Amino acid sequence: MRVASLVSYEQALERYDPVLGLEVHVELDTVSKMFCGCPTGFGAAPNAQVCPVCLGLPGALPVLNERAVESAIRIGLALNCTVAVECRFARKNYFYPDMPKNFQTSQYDEPIAFDGWTEVEVDGRSYRIEIERAHMEEDTGKSLHVGGATGRIHGAHHSLVDYNRAGIPLIEIVTRPIVGTGALAPVVARAYVAHLRELLVALAVSDVRMEQGSLRCDANVSLRPGPDAPLGTRTETKNVNSLRSVERAVRYEICRQASVLGDGGTVTQETRHWHEDTGITTPGRSKEQAEDYRYFPEPDLAPIAPDAAWVEELRETLPEGPRERWARLQAGWGFSDLEMRDVAGAGALVLVEQTIAAGATPAAAKKWWLSDLARRANEQGVEPAALPVSPKQVAQVQALIDAGRINDKMARTVFDGLLAGEGTPEEIVVAQGLVVVSDETALGAAVDRAIEAHPDVAAKVRDGKVAAAGALIGAVMKEMRGQADAARVRELINSRLVTVTPGSDLASQ
Ligand SMILES: [Zn+2]
Repeated sequence: MRVASLVSYEQALERYDPVLGLEVHVELDTVSKMFCGCPTGFGAAPNAQVCPVCLGLPGALPVLNERAVESAIRIGLALNCTVAVECRFARKNYFYPDMPKNFQTSQYDEPIAFDGWTEVEVDGRSYRIEIERAHMEEDTGKSLHVGGATGRIHGAHHSLVDYNRAGIPLIEIVTRPIVGTGALAPVVARAYVAHLRELLVALAVSDVRMEQGSLRCDANVSLRPGPDAPLGTRTETKNVNSLRSVERAVRYEICRQASVLGDGGTVTQETRHWHEDTGITTPGRSKEQAEDYRYFPEPDLAPIAPDAAWVEELRETLPEGPRERWARLQAGWGFSDLEMRDVAGAGALVLVEQTIAAGATPAAAKKWWLSDLARRANEQGVEPAALPVSPKQVAQVQALIDAGRINDKMARTVFDGLLAGEGTPEEIVVAQGLVVVSDETALGAAVDRAIEAHPDVAAKVRDGKVAAAGALIGAVMKEMRGQADAARVRELINSRLVTVTPGSDLASQ
């Protein structure tokens, strides 16, 4: 292993310009599989979701899932792709135990969507990512190698195959080479996959759970001496299944390839495996050329010719783009550019939006998420969204303040209770006895007692030293354990000690 001799990332970047290519497989969350009626749920007993079609039994004929085509078109449109007027499926022939037909039904020279683009933001800079194609295909089954230490086939004494996943609809989204990212290549790769994930959530076409494999990234990396040089030989690190791993795998490959090239070696075109535990990649198989698969048109499926009117109908169902969304929210909330950036920078855009939707004003929603809750998230080292306080609860706390039942100080106590899992805001208010006393009789009696207990202070106030009333207010607040409205207490004290003459300042209080 050459690990010990790897050059540093900074050294690699001094000598080479990295180029990325990202292939993302998305499992669609259709109810049934791509070409049969089998269910697609995750976690069923092995081989409980199979039929003659997805097992590839002789004579079984596929029937295309219309919903999968619809999702493929919507994904293509969201990525600014051209949708094919007509396209076909192809058989990609290779033998693999978890692929019972010995060919994968995919698309080859006629993808359903092509020539698109999207944009990702990194450190306030926008990177345009060109999309080469988005095509439909079916997932394979899963092999389980038993008896070895690593779970890989080497060292195993037998293997089991689960075909539940075979035939689940997949969309493969392929970028063109991504150039010009420089040292930010690993971050841009991660940001792109994160961006796709958000887009797919907004489209509601996949559950995008990377840990369950419903979103997987193959990261192609190559190096060249400079931005004007031709592209170098690339490696493809397969099935990277977390955002963090995408960033780490790209970074590792840049260092590894720079080390190989720096020693006068050549990079082998191959697929590589990513090892989460050790943070390295190791060689897989050397990369087949497309012709090795002997693609040919799938004879059992008719070409797909999506009706133009249908495509336009689907375009209408697209979620708004990130820029339109930003502008709409800013206009609706009346925030300045700086306020919007603060909210987004705190990771609270969606939280503020949901808090407002739950009934809070924009100012109140921003106040809590950017002050108290941001501070608590920071203390715990988590994103605000990971706090056990929901936007709805924040709106409920604000509603209690607006109703005059609690004050801001008490609201902080309620948030403490929410973070400690003590129940709803209402329950915490009741359990902790957090009530602003608005009982005039009780307040008036407390004021009378305070005046009686501090005759010297009362005398000063009577003589016109209004500021002296602070001591009386303090005494009342102490008696009411902080649960009185201080402004109302002052009014009651004034009404007892200060003779209001028309035209004086106090008359208006
Ligand atoms: Zn089936």
